[in-house]
Amino acid sequence: MDDAHWMALALAEARLAAEAGEVPVGAVLVRNGQFVASGRNTPVAQHDPSAHAEINALRAGAAALGNYRLDGCELFVTLEPCAMCAGAMLHARLARVVFGAADPKTGAAGSVLDLFAEPRLNHRTQVQGGVLAAECSALLQGFFQQRRDAAREQAQPLRDDALRTPPERFDALAGYAFEPRYVHDLPSLQGWRMHYLDEGPQDGSAAACLCLHGPGEWGYFFRRLVGAPGLRTLVPDLIGFGKSDKPKREAAHRIEWHCQVLGEWLDRLQPPPMVLVHSAAATGLAARLHAEKGGLFAAVLLAPEGGEPVGDAWRAPFPDRGYQAALRALGPIASSSGPNAQQAALLAQAVRNAMGYSTP
Ligand SMILES: [Zn+2]
Repeated sequence: MDDAHWMALALAEARLAAEAGEVPVGAVLVRNGQFVASGRNTPVAQHDPSAHAEINALRAGAAALGNYRLDGCELFVTLEPCAMCAGAMLHARLARVVFGAADPKTGAAGSVLDLFAEPRLNHRTQVQGGVLAAECSALLQGFFQQRRDAAREQAQPLRDDALRTPPERFDALAGYAFEPRYVHDLPSLQGWRMHYLDEGPQDGSAAACLCLHGPGEWGYFFRRLVGAPGLRTLVPDLIGFGKSDKPKREAAHRIEWHCQVLGEWLDRLQPPPMVLVHSAAATGLAARLHAEKGGLFAAVLLAPEGGEPVGDAWRAPFPDRGYQAALRALGPIASSSGPNAQQAALLAQAVRNAMGYSTP
């Protein structure tokens, strides 16, 4: 087995770290050409500043071998080790360490300092860098870029004639832990931020549907449908409802304007042909959107409402009267409940049928 083989395994560990929201660094411990242990970055999850990939791999390896000394072992890690990890490697008496990308900020194998070359430390560990360096550093850069994008999204300024519901108002709602998405720069939005979900495969392998809630409801209406197998669900919260911004003035809320926002948003998303699914309360809005964007919809379906009562879900977006301009303009809190699990499964099937997809 060559170095690249073990580094590829370390990269797989790094990807698992990224999926868990950790900085993507992975490590693999090898002895006599045999896999001993692996580790990935887990400081966030474990509340442990020392839980670097290398430390985790050394711990697991020492436990597996029943020895705190790892004589003859080699460690493969996707990023140049920091001083802490380099120190631990020297204590473990590793024979060799191989890393991928250099770390100009904290690297202790030559970038910032070189602990392995320190003549006053008596153990010698061989060091080699640059193995699969491009892949290792692309993974890190992609991760940090994503984090910057997310931070920018969070930082979208709130207009002073609008309110934004505190996210904790939605924490208690079961079954709606979907990734929030936002758009704020459509011409008709004038800076107001619209929230939406886009769940399910986007590669054309699933039938798509647009789920439209009505006044007094929000995307939560479709909670049983989102995530159905073989289905891509786009679920916008109309401005003034759900997790979207709440303009303070009633005058902002005209059905034509909501329809225009949805139209611009769809133009931006460029979704595939799909089914328009709507609640009873959204019938008027759905008809208007269908009239304007008819080419996009292969069918229109009314969502049934046999679900369990939604408790405080319809009230959650409105901490007080100041948030309720949309309710005053378009109608009060709804009494609808959305489809139950069985109805949602049938609805998903109807969408797939309408789009010519077979059962997943
Ligand atoms: Zn480290």
